[in-house]
Amino acid sequence: CTLSHVTTIIYDNYYFNVCTSNLVDFVILFQWEVVQRTLNGSQFYTYSVCNVGEREQDNWLRTTFIQRRPAASRVFVELQFIVRDCNSFGDSSVTCKETFNLFTSESDADVGTTFRKGQFKKVATIAPDEITSKNELHINTETRVVENLSRKGFYLAFQDIGACVALLSARVYYKTCPATVKSLASFPETVAGGENQALREVSGVCMDNAISEELPRIYCTVDGEWVVPVGQCQCKSGYEEVKDACQECQAGFFKAAASGDKCEPCPANTQKLNSGALVCPCMDGFYRAPTDPPTGPCSGLPSAPRDLVATTTQLSTGKLLLSWQPPEDTGGRSDITYSIECQRCEGVVCQSCGEKIRYEPASTGLTDTKVSVSELDAHLNYTFTVEAHSGVSLFASQIRNILYPLSSDPPKITSMRLVERTSTSLSLSWDVFPRPRVQSRPIRYELTYRKKDDNLDVTTYIVLILEKNFVQISKLAPGTAYLFRVQALSSDGTPGGSSMEEQFETSLEERLTQNNTAVISCAAVGGAAMLFIVVMVLFLRRRKRNSHTRQGPEDTYFSSSEQLKPLKTYVDPHTYEDPNTAVLKFATEIHPSHITKQKVIGAGEFGEVYRGILKVPGRKEVAVAIKTLKPGYSEKQRQDFLSEASIMGQFSHQNIIRLEGVVTKFKHAMIVTEYMENGALDRYLRDHDGEFASFQLVGMLRGIAAGMKYLSDMSYVHRDLAARNILVNNTLECKVSDFGLSRVLEDDPEGTYTTSGGKIPIRWTAPEAIAYRKFTSASDVWSFGIVMWEVMAFGERPYWDMSNHEVMKAINEAFRLPAPMDCPSAVYQLMLQCWLQDRSKRPRFGDIVNLLDKLLRSPDSLKTIADFDPRVSIRLPSTSGSDGSPFRSVSEWLESIKMSQYSENFTCAGVVTMDQVLQMKNEDIKNIGVRLPGHLKRIAYSILGLKDQTSTLSVFAV
Ligand code: AMP
Repeated sequence: CTLSHVTTIIYDNYYFNVCTSNLVDFVILFQWEVVQRTLNGSQFYTYSVCNVGEREQDNWLRTTFIQRRPAASRVFVELQFIVRDCNSFGDSSVTCKETFNLFTSESDADVGTTFRKGQFKKVATIAPDEITSKNELHINTETRVVENLSRKGFYLAFQDIGACVALLSARVYYKTCPATVKSLASFPETVAGGENQALREVSGVCMDNAISEELPRIYCTVDGEWVVPVGQCQCKSGYEEVKDACQECQAGFFKAAASGDKCEPCPANTQKLNSGALVCPCMDGFYRAPTDPPTGPCSGLPSAPRDLVATTTQLSTGKLLLSWQPPEDTGGRSDITYSIECQRCEGVVCQSCGEKIRYEPASTGLTDTKVSVSELDAHLNYTFTVEAHSGVSLFASQIRNILYPLSSDPPKITSMRLVERTSTSLSLSWDVFPRPRVQSRPIRYELTYRKKDDNLDVTTYIVLILEKNFVQISKLAPGTAYLFRVQALSSDGTPGGSSMEEQFETSLEERLTQNNTAVISCAAVGGAAMLFIVVMVLFLRRRKRNSHTRQGPEDTYFSSSEQLKPLKTYVDPHTYEDPNTAVLKFATEIHPSHITKQKVIGAGEFGEVYRGILKVPGRKEVAVAIKTLKPGYSEKQRQDFLSEASIMGQFSHQNIIRLEGVVTKFKHAMIVTEYMENGALDRYLRDHDGEFASFQLVGMLRGIAAGMKYLSDMSYVHRDLAARNILVNNTLECKVSDFGLSRVLEDDPEGTYTTSGGKIPIRWTAPEAIAYRKFTSASDVWSFGIVMWEVMAFGERPYWDMSNHEVMKAINEAFRLPAPMDCPSAVYQLMLQCWLQDRSKRPRFGDIVNLLDKLLRSPDSLKTIADFDPRVSIRLPSTSGSDGSPFRSVSEWLESIKMSQYSENFTCAGVVTMDQVLQMKNEDIKNIGVRLPGHLKRIAYSILGLKDQTSTLSVFAV
């Protein structure tokens, strides 16, 4: 039999594996013959020989060629046969035998009917356990092993030397260890070894979602059994073992690391996420302190301390004892400390008590519930605030107050009242809640007022920006009612809650004949700093009648009035039934022989990007970038690839990448554009960190804004504006590129995009575009703000290593990126404007170009630098090691601020410990060879941050 073709026949309750198909293929040699026998009514064939009466028998039966599976070096031969009792032959019993011999011969090829006895080796003599007499039939089964086979196949042969034998079946097989899964590793079916390799070592593969440190192994024995598994696989984090497989942790459970453990239920105050959680993040309002294990419970902020009591002890010396009770709710923590704040209030105006006052033992970090305050002035009113803190409150307040210092929540206006009035002036004051805290940035107020009965078509609003919570407005009309509204503004200009509209009237006396319709002038006195008295909103009531023709808020971007409509509007190539028509319409076909590819310069979405030369006959040769479409593309991919050219071909602007043409009529489609020597802007800036002055960076931004203004004028929404998609040439001119993701702004202003499957670059995308795919030029403006940040931060990644989820959460909570190092204040203010939540309030690209132009024309305007907090504006880990602990070495610190190139300078100068680093002055940094101003600043600021951090270390280990 060949190894695979064994047929089982049942005979008289015996199971016979007979290779029936091969039976006739046996090469019958001398004397053996096929005999059909009937046993108990059934017929079957046997190979038989029965020359018992004759001497010196040597009868051979040989099988056909048996192919061997390479690994099977040990083969079993199971024979079923009948041998007749010699005694039953009477006289012939003298020469009669009751055994026969099994032989084998290896070969690499089938030799057909050629038979050379000498080539066969004897394997065994086969003797029956029971011989068959005249009356009784006995079928014997014997198995023999043929070892050490090594060639492609072999023959078996049976030698009869004078017996009466009938061979019923020959079954040839080898043993395997079956495919199995042990300790979460799967092992393949393996052929068992032979004498010379009793244990076969087999390597396994961890099951899906399982991992192991050591390669899993196991041994297969000669008998086809698996033994001694080595190296365990374990389910990775977020998975647990269930029946030889790794299953995701159920919802509400988590597993933080790869182990044999089961998933654990989410600890107290954490969010029960969907299945497969690695950790359970804290619920809103709960936190983990930096020293808390990430797998532990989260704790809440402590509630306020209770029963604050002030006891005057020695009034003459201005001393006061403050004591209080611990908070009712400690948030589940024991590390409660207290801090004291003092404000001095005169009337409604409060200010910090300053440094004159002494606290014993201290004003912060108190573990006791009392403090003594001295050096107070006896005749003044003081307001003390005691705050409870714990490991998590530092962490929580840090997010709000330190990481995003510019976006603290503005307080709300609670009430507005008339303080004084004359016939021409009104004095008003108002309250805010909560009161501005000591040391916090000043709040500003936006006061808007107008005459109540302005029945003319023009209503004049006057807007004042004030720094104090009271104002005196003069030069008003006597006996006239005015309507007032106040709104608090946070430090970044974000408006908070505004007051109700309040009405106050000037008194009637001294009523003068004034011109009612004149623009009202005003002045602020009484200590109110008036910063800004400019905004006059002309509100044409007639317009209201036509308001039904107006569109949504984004109309402020794209005016509906006819005369402002851009002359040329971009056409979406997808609107063409056959996209190939669009390519032909907007792009010039180039013959491939006019293009020479020189070098791969990048990898695009569809294939390599090359630098090359375009030489069209009769025209000067130009350097070009050639985008190619990789082989094996589908028709859809080809159309998508070429759609970029159809879009680009419609633009013609200094700051938009220029399309030279396309190759569409040949197998290898290409898009050929102008060549930009310095490549993508993000990488270029990273490679030249600190090498450009602010006005150069602002110049680059101006170019990008001009390109974007052009696109928005054509009603084209880019959707993927980011520094990586801006290209820079050798004159540092920046051009907008990458029109792959983009889609046209639809006519319907309410039309929101539902294009599914598009990837959204979260960090660059406006909240409304993420939330409901509202992509407009206003969302491009948001992205432009991010590009501004990238540029001013020399290619730093926006929001550093915060996850997309964290970024979205922070933006939703009104947090914004802080100013990059050395960023001019005016530039940062513009970024903040681009990131206004209300998209209708964001500046338009036209406004942005104008503002940047203005800044470039007066370089002094770039000299005021935005507040920069070194602890947040350099990558967060720069103030401590990645695990929150201080840096262990100078090189670790330099690496974290991306200044490793100066490692040797520090070593050569003998600055080898962080203590020495902390002692360095700016001069010292220069002296050791840091020359580039940007690098100098980065290192100096980081040292500043490190110093500052000694007292607030835990705060920055976010
Ligand atoms: P893209 O598919 O447009 O993102 O291009 C991939 C990369 O190729 C870019 O990041 C650039 O580095 C490079 N590249 C693309 N177009 C040009 C060009 N016109 N000039 C120089 N480099 C380019």
